[in-house]
Amino acid sequence: MKIVMLGAPGAGKGTQAKQIAKKFDIPHISTGDIFRANIKNNTELGKKAKEFMDQGMLVPDSLTLELIMDRFAQPDCENGYVLDGFPRTIPQAEALTKALAEKGENIDFAINVEVPDESIVRRMSGRRACLSCGATYHIKYNAPVKEGICDTCGSELVLREDDKPETVLKRLSVYHDQTQPLIDYYNREGVLREVDGTKDMNDVFQDILAILC
Ligand code: ADP
Ligand code: ADP
Ligand code: ZN
Repeated sequence: MKIVMLGAPGAGKGTQAKQIAKKFDIPHISTGDIFRANIKNNTELGKKAKEFMDQGMLVPDSLTLELIMDRFAQPDCENGYVLDGFPRTIPQAEALTKALAEKGENIDFAINVEVPDESIVRRMSGRRACLSCGATYHIKYNAPVKEGICDTCGSELVLREDDKPETVLKRLSVYHDQTQPLIDYYNREGVLREVDGTKDMNDVFQDILAILC
């Protein structure tokens, strides 16, 4: 099964994608996580991506596509995947459709997690991220057992640089300009499904399961 998660930054794509990946035993592929891992390891790609990410802008399509096509070539992608944060622009979506079509494949579902902008800024200020393993927490809605420490790997949790309110507003505007058009794109492809992302995270997951099963 091949799934694309759509939604504003902070809508809960990552939270839901992790659960979907576990349930269906497919990889969770987050371009944001891959970029952050590259930044942490100080790679050339990381250095280039950081300039854009810190400003709340998108990393250029060419760089993003190179990275994701490499990832798709890994053997664990054979049975599908859940994509979180990719595609984020129409050219990225077109490149994905084309790459899949060459193998006679297609995206099965694009799930749009809907959350109004007002709730996003509030959510993001409470998000805490583990840059070692990619786990995500919320100080109120999904707190780690021990404050500031990742349950999964024991690393220290951080407020991402780009989750500060000024940058979140910039990312929301980039989202509306460049990523929201993908909702229409996948609607035309006949694979769009919508869920209410303002519900409790477990309820959102149940709604997603009802779509996928
Ligand atoms: P969020 O989880 O808040 O939606 P991500 O972790 O997906 O954020 O992305 C963080 C940043 O990484 C984005 O603001 C952007 O700069 C960069 N990024 C991630 N995925 C892409 C992509 N597909 N195309 C361009 N830039 C991307
Ligand atoms: P995205 O990947 O779309 O940027 P995340 O999954 O990282 O979003 O979620 C953003 C923040 O909101 C995280 O701190 C997460 O724990 C929290 N969160 C996710 N889903 C919900 C929900 N349904 N209700 C409340 N908070 C949520
Ligand atoms: Zn961790």
